[in-house]
Amino acid sequence: MKASDVKTPRPVMGLYDKPMWESIDARGMKLQCCAECQTWLYPPAPACPKCLSCELVWTPISGRGRIVSWVVFHRHYLPAYPPPYNAVAVRLDEGPTMISNLEGAMPDEGSMGREVRLVYVTMADGVVLPRWSLG
Ligand SMILES: [Zn+2]
Repeated sequence: MKASDVKTPRPVMGLYDKPMWESIDARGMKLQCCAECQTWLYPPAPACPKCLSCELVWTPISGRGRIVSWVVFHRHYLPAYPPPYNAVAVRLDEGPTMISNLEGAMPDEGSMGREVRLVYVTMADGVVLPRWSLG
């Protein structure tokens, strides 16, 4: 099997997710920001969880954050993710916590609190994923 034959699991598209994934495809990830109280939303939603305003503006994120949790998987669950692979939870500078994968290095005991930046990774089948890189 060629690498390009391995299918990256597609996002389960909720009612409000499409603009976010379009911004990821364009390599300029956006999240909703509340026009009333400036709370950032992740995952996308129909209303602000803080003030219930529906005035949400798709706004580019800084792409900066810090690792708040991580795990390394050693079992093979999905063809697109041969072990070992990792998942990291990153607290975005904007506030929400986003889970994805760390590129370039496996997280370890020293990873908690490390600064990361958003990178866009094109999988073998062409799917673009938002991931994290140290520094
Ligand atoms: Zn709000």
